[in-house]
This record gives sequence, C-alpha cells and structure tokens, in this order.
Amino acid sequence: MFIGHYALGLAAKRLAPRTSLGTLFVAPTLADLLWPVFLLLGWERVSPSGVTNPFLTLTFDAYPVSHSLLALIGWSALYALLYRARTGYGRGAIVVGLLVVSHWLLDFVTHVPDMPLYPGGPKVGLGLWHSVPGTVIIEGLMFAAGVAIYAATTRPRDGVGRIGLGVLVLVLAAAYFGSLFSPPPPSPALAIGAIVFGWLFVVGAWWGDRHREAGAVVGNPGAPPRG
Ligand SMILES: [Zn+2]
Repeated sequence: MFIGHYALGLAAKRLAPRTSLGTLFVAPTLADLLWPVFLLLGWERVSPSGVTNPFLTLTFDAYPVSHSLLALIGWSALYALLYRARTGYGRGAIVVGLLVVSHWLLDFVTHVPDMPLYPGGPKVGLGLWHSVPGTVIIEGLMFAAGVAIYAATTRPRDGVGRIGLGVLVLVLAAAYFGSLFSPPPPSPALAIGAIVFGWLFVVGAWWGDRHREAGAVVGNPGAPPRG
C-alpha cells in the first residue's frame, strides 16, 4: 500500500491535533522509510518479479526487520516512547505508536503472502494487489477521506497553509499514479528513490502543517481553543 498509509496519517490529525503532520507521516510509513536503508545495508532483499501488474513488479524476498509484525510492534513502542519523551504529549505518542503498527495491517491486506509475522516466521498477505482497480479504488477512497478529515480538523494560518495542502495532495496523487505506469528501477536506485521520496513527503507535510492550526472541531479534547 502507498497513499493509504498517508491517508491514516492525515486522518490521525483529528486524534492528535498537536502532533505535526510530518510526524503523522513518518509513523505510518516508518516501515517503508527503514526498508530502503536496510536494502542498502544488505539486511533485506528485493528482486524483480517479471510480473506486469504494477503492484506486483517486485518480489519482497526478505524484510524481517522493517516489515515483520513483531519488529513493527517493537518499532512502534520505540517511536512512541521517543515521541513521548521529546514532546510530553501522551495522546500523540499513543496515536503515532498505533500508526507505526497500522503499516503492517494495511500491507497485510494488499501484499501477496510475503509479510512475516516475525523474523523467520510464517508469511501472510490477503493479496488485494491482484486487483489493480480494487486497490486503486480502496486506496483512493481512503486518501480522499484522510484529506477531508485533515482539512476539517485544521485551518490555514496563511497563504502557504491554504495552498500547501492542495500541493501535497496533488504531489502524492501524482506519485501514486506515476508508480502505476513506471516500473521501479533496479536497486540501488530503487532504495535511494524510496528514501528521497519518502522523506520529501514527510518534510512537505511538516512544512505545510506549520502553516495550519488546529481548529473547527467541536469537542476535540486535544485542540487548543479557537481564537
Ligand atoms: Zn510497506
């Protein structure tokens, strides 16, 4: 799954309004931010599958440290503790912790059975990727809902906050559709591209979010009072 992960990050702003959207983008995509680093280190492996379905062009031979359920529970606890220690925002720490593990659940739904339960353990996956329209429709709806929730939970502080969200949405949507029509490059270009784009989206989200403020949600316990 690709933009579906960002959809959860956008929607999570409602639950943790004081958490930056940059952090809310790192958490659900942490597995995919670590994975290319581990590829470059040679800890994890991927190979071309030869399949034409754009979602199935890669065979994920091994990614136990970035993508097993057990490892993601560990990364989730670590990330939540570090976030809590740095910000003191307990509610946000719980939300980012859940987002880290959500990556495994969403990938479990989309991937063919290559998602390990634990390093060396059984691999599972429901294979939504076999249906290209099904995947695009479900991820598209999730993304639209995430954008709508984020837009309703925050309001622009200035011009950047007003157009920044639209630019971020367009760039993510363009990257998603681009990935459907251009096969991934061979490693290490694949890994470097994944790192560059992954962090580009995070920085874009962090920057745009700084130009918006929480508001417009009645009864939201984490939101500052409307001014
Ligand atoms: Zn993933």
